[in-house]
Amino acid sequence: MKKSIVHLVHYALNKRLIEPDQIDQAIACLTQTLHEEPFNYVQFDFDEDEEADLEKLLDIAAQKKMISASNLDERDAFEALLFNCVMPSPDVVKKEFHKLYQISPGEATKYLYKLSKDVNYIKTKRLKSNIEWVYDGAYGKLQMTINLAKPEKDPKEIAAAKNKVEIQKDASIPKCVICKENEQNYHNARMNLRIVPLILGNVVWHFQYSPYLYYNEHTIILHDQHQPMKISSKTFTYLLDFEDQFPSYFIGSNADLPIVGGSILNHDHFQGGRHQFPIQDARPLKSFGTISHVDVSHLKWPLSTIRLVSSDRQSLEKLATHFLDQWKTYQNLELNIVSHTHDIPHNTITPIARKSGAVYELDIILRNNRTTEKYPLGIFHPHEDVHHIKKENIGLIEAMGLAILPGRLKNELKDILEWLNQQSDLPAHLEKHHAWMKELKKANLKTYTESWLFKEVGKKFERVIEDSGVFKLDPKGIAAMQKFMTDTIKKFTQKV
Ligand SMILES: [Zn+2]
Repeated sequence: MKKSIVHLVHYALNKRLIEPDQIDQAIACLTQTLHEEPFNYVQFDFDEDEEADLEKLLDIAAQKKMISASNLDERDAFEALLFNCVMPSPDVVKKEFHKLYQISPGEATKYLYKLSKDVNYIKTKRLKSNIEWVYDGAYGKLQMTINLAKPEKDPKEIAAAKNKVEIQKDASIPKCVICKENEQNYHNARMNLRIVPLILGNVVWHFQYSPYLYYNEHTIILHDQHQPMKISSKTFTYLLDFEDQFPSYFIGSNADLPIVGGSILNHDHFQGGRHQFPIQDARPLKSFGTISHVDVSHLKWPLSTIRLVSSDRQSLEKLATHFLDQWKTYQNLELNIVSHTHDIPHNTITPIARKSGAVYELDIILRNNRTTEKYPLGIFHPHEDVHHIKKENIGLIEAMGLAILPGRLKNELKDILEWLNQQSDLPAHLEKHHAWMKELKKANLKTYTESWLFKEVGKKFERVIEDSGVFKLDPKGIAAMQKFMTDTIKKFTQKV
């Protein structure tokens, strides 16, 4: 036991999580946490490559009934508690981040990213079992992942969460999973979480990394207060302020309405990071020229996307706000686009910002969350025949062309492949895939390979994001979208 504790301390020293003068303090904290007698530092010889054995310490905690042996959530929470003993306090991290930021934004993010990985806040090891491939389709190279850390949520369940009465009164108890109060919170397995404050648009926000890391340096920027997602002209100010402060990261926001928003609607937040998404490479379907120093185009992308490019930030924000305002009340009954039901709004956007040198790029994805009897989960939402692959909301990340498919698919695809390669009855546990499997069988291949099947999944994902597009990329849809853009530009230039 002593050896395991000292080993963790050594690991922390090697990773510069603590300094040598903090060894005694770290051992005291670990022994207290594990209900062990305190001891003085003793020297052990460790293999340089040997990783600290957290599992051994977690087993000790389980033997002492501090956690249950098999519950992963409890083990994660306790592991985070142990790491909290061998890492800098929140205050120290905030100071260090801002000190490094004075050198460069990259130094600051590198520091927090490395720290988050070294203390296993970012579940690096678990993420290694994720499956990734590229689907080269009609809109470029879509990025496909099966994420084994993400629970699959039903959009209706998420919609209900927005209206749920919040009964937690104590200010220190987080109201949701991204509230700033989660920092050093045991029950959410967040004892090893460190966040740093930022000012965007004269408002306090906090910067942290995502434990699930859907892409490189996946960042979450959360509002200081627990308040609902809200897309407005201010959103553009927040996003562009972030770009001025962290130009090598992209940033985007989920929409602020159920069905078309992300999984968390009750706490305003953005997501960013260092990653190039497929949407970035999308080409203009039509260019509208330069309007008040801003280049405007309609992208060839399955979700209806307007791209604004300019080095004139003020003009960019003005034009973006104008597009947002015009979209909020846009209707086209022939295309099933209705902006309101009574006074409930349906139109919103998913905005994304990037910066390259002095040039800002804003992608505005038009969204509509209306449901009908025929489409109870949403007209512009993956339709029922693709639910066996993806039923969840199409949020920011997938709207940009990165699929995060549910973990269950890993085994299901394996079983489907097995079935395709042998003559047998359709397995009952794959019922939701049956229609698709019969389709696949029609290809009549001698041998069905995994890469072939992955390509078929890619096709399905392409359909998923096509379903989410408000203006379809057929002649009628393209004409209507471009008329909306032309009219909007016309009104803008009259105003200016
Ligand atoms: Zn919250």
